[in-house]
Amino acid sequence: MKVLVTGGAGFIGSALIRHLLAETDATVVNVDRLTYAGSRHTIAAWRDEPRHHFVQQDICDAQAMTELFPRHRPSAVVHLAAESHVDRSIERPAEFIRTNVTGTYTLLESTLGFWEALSPSEREAFRFVHVSTDEVYGSLTPADPAFTETTPYAPSSPYAASKAAADHLARAWWRTYGLPVIVSNCSNNYGPYQFPEKLIPLAILKAVAGEPIPVYGSGQHVRDWLFVEDHAVALHTILRRGRTGESYNVGANAERSNLVVVRTLCALLDELRPDDPVVPHSRLITHVDERPGHDLRYAIDTRKLQAELGWAPRFAFETGLRATVQWYVEHLDWCAAVTEGAYDGRRLGLRRRGA
Ligand code: NAD
Repeated sequence: MKVLVTGGAGFIGSALIRHLLAETDATVVNVDRLTYAGSRHTIAAWRDEPRHHFVQQDICDAQAMTELFPRHRPSAVVHLAAESHVDRSIERPAEFIRTNVTGTYTLLESTLGFWEALSPSEREAFRFVHVSTDEVYGSLTPADPAFTETTPYAPSSPYAASKAAADHLARAWWRTYGLPVIVSNCSNNYGPYQFPEKLIPLAILKAVAGEPIPVYGSGQHVRDWLFVEDHAVALHTILRRGRTGESYNVGANAERSNLVVVRTLCALLDELRPDDPVVPHSRLITHVDERPGHDLRYAIDTRKLQAELGWAPRFAFETGLRATVQWYVEHLDWCAAVTEGAYDGRRLGLRRRGA
């Protein structure tokens, strides 16, 4: 199997490639533009790996994408390349529309052109897995049942709206042209190699540095938290056994409020780093202005994926979080390398509430 992975120098894409290289004999073509969120430091371990081919390319470049397919002849695409940070989408939505909507359209079109010219048996075996988020479903109240695959889309942020648009395009390319598309909608991921602007790695780095740890509003926003290695296994399962034209929700049944997440990781840091400048680390938790349009709760019903494809998460939240905290404190050099230069850390939500 030759898998074309888009966004493979980012957080989840690199976890998927790590899984494919370790657990299968697949060859990977990793197409990534290397925005601020993608880094050569993340994929450095595969520099001499003959089953990993890195192509620095923008998925919005139609000509380049069209030329890429006949050159590499993949048997599947797993599409993860995206602008992924909600705060950035609020400040500068244009790049989200460009990559998440136009880029997905461009990739679907170039895949379709290639797929249509394949032999019938190759067409039959081909898959396009479009990786999306639970954020497309909008916000739940504490009493609402979890999102299922038939929950109507109601995205709140420009990020979620751009992902929803991309999901609709992917499904339309299945319904209209027969491209063998499968959509996955996953909850919040955490784990190694996540760019340190997202809640968990940002909180770890702030805590280690003895700086205020920003938590939006009251911190009562609830997310379902999935360890990234479990997501990689789920994507591989969907790729192998998912039914085309279907969507699969992916989640861990591990709902935690942001405040609980941050308090838990502070307690882990107290244990791992008792000599940090401020201990207990939870003293650094600082409530900052609410994010506009902030969804209160996401929860995800994964019964379809579990029943149909036999996937279940292996990591309990506390186990995955411990591994994650440990990884970050041992890889502060990676954090420094990926945040150097291009990263604009202006908006990290550090205004105290009401200031
Ligand atoms: P990320 O921001 O860490 O990585 C995105 C990658 O895409 C980066 O390597 C970046 O360089 C690349 N990229 C961006 N624009 C590109 C372009 N125009 N052309 C080529 N490459 C481009 O994101 P992530 O957290 O790894 O998320 C991956 C996918 O999973 C996204 O589609 C996201 O919507 C989805 N997702 C993420 C989460 C989560 O919690 N992180 C949850 C559910 C779904």
